[in-house]
Amino acid sequence: MPPTSEPSVTQPNKPADPETPASGTATREGPPSDALATGGRNSSRLPNFYELPISERLSVAAQSAGIERRDADALGRFGALTPELTDVFIENAIGTFSLPLGVATNFRVNGRDFLVPMAVEETSVLAAASHGAKLARAGGGFTVTTTEPVMTGQIELGVAAHDRAAAEAALALHKDRLIAWANRGHDSLVARGGGARDLDWRWIEAIESLVVHLYVDTREAMGANIVNTMCERVSGLMPELFPCSIGLRILTNLTDRRLARAVCRIPVTALDTPEFSGARVAQGIERAWLFACHDQHRATTNNKGIMNGIDPVLIATGNDWRAIEAGAHSYAVRSGRYQPMASWQRLPAGDLEGILELPMAVGTVGGVTKLHPTAAAALRLMGSPTARELAGIIVATGLAQNLSALRALATEGIQRGHMGLHRKNLDLLQRTPPAAAARPSGGLDS
Ligand code: NDP
Repeated sequence: MPPTSEPSVTQPNKPADPETPASGTATREGPPSDALATGGRNSSRLPNFYELPISERLSVAAQSAGIERRDADALGRFGALTPELTDVFIENAIGTFSLPLGVATNFRVNGRDFLVPMAVEETSVLAAASHGAKLARAGGGFTVTTTEPVMTGQIELGVAAHDRAAAEAALALHKDRLIAWANRGHDSLVARGGGARDLDWRWIEAIESLVVHLYVDTREAMGANIVNTMCERVSGLMPELFPCSIGLRILTNLTDRRLARAVCRIPVTALDTPEFSGARVAQGIERAWLFACHDQHRATTNNKGIMNGIDPVLIATGNDWRAIEAGAHSYAVRSGRYQPMASWQRLPAGDLEGILELPMAVGTVGGVTKLHPTAAAALRLMGSPTARELAGIIVATGLAQNLSALRALATEGIQRGHMGLHRKNLDLLQRTPPAAAARPSGGLDS
């Protein structure tokens, strides 16, 4: 059905429909199918939509889509955020999306106990994380190590092949000057002990480019904006030093100089179940790891299960989970073959050792970490960790999640525990009228 007209959204203070209340709820009643049948679904072309007050945006979107009032009400809720904050965080905002927030228990990391906040919609994730942490706790918990918080920025320079040698010589000669230039305007970061530290470069023949990597210690910040700003600044100096054209300037999310590593050792007796000996469970987990080492289909689901533990902590603490997802999967294929992110091997005495190392660029300042009231409170719930401590807790959570899932898979199977918990979702769905029912997610991936 072609659009009948474009909603009038050019007068921000005047609702497009005189019946539309300023509160931002839609007035159109009737099921969505009516709206489609009568041509109520209009265009996605909404000129100046972004300039409207947030409440009017919802009205316009609801009218355009021809949705019912109760759907508009569901879209326009704000929960822990105010409309003002929501409008600052993103463009074209109409409301917020709520996720359950829970606390995973039993975590002991480097000898300290932590409660781990997790925001996630999937049944059994928190149960699995807490169970994995309990198993690890039997062996003293998780030992984590992290690198300095060094991010990598990329500056792509178009350089003719015959200018390459001179360009590389100029980069070597002016390296210190370029680093100092990158730090200009970042006095407070430098005063905190951070800032641009080093740079190197490599030649990419296929695109006749020198790609400079700028290494920046961003301290407590995730650092994407800091690094991007520095890359743009420092690139301005390059054409003065050698013939080149400036290409892309942006951080890489493969933050392989900003890593976090968690290790746990599970005493074999802690793995005993009523049906299986600990030795049999440890063998099953090691075998499951080997399966993933040799099979990309298995490795993918294994790694999704690890991110089941990691993403919810990132979301709860206001961190950029897309950035971590991208870096984690890229790191998993660094050998040229996509691999399971964590390894599980039996030690000579029969105990099981798990190791997870991932790029983990997370911040405790910057982004929305301090602005989102729930994220800020979640960080306080964790005892206000530093960015490096937070990175360590997050990889420990991923490792706990993997342990729990592999233990279940290697013994009774994943569905017994998961479906017991998921049953409540299915019961709710049956009791809820279809139009209003939210469809729960699928199983516990591992
Ligand atoms: P911000 O742009 O919010 O900047 C963080 C600022 O916090 C710093 O510039 C610094 O400013 C201040 N600050 C205060 N205390 C400290 C401290 N102890 N250590 C370090 N900085 C401190 O955040 P980021 O640069 O961290 O960027 C993260 C955001 O960028 C996220 O929202 C992410 O989603 C987004 N992003 C991600 C991209 C990607 O991953 N590809 C690309 C682009 C953006 P001052 O020194 O002036 O006090």
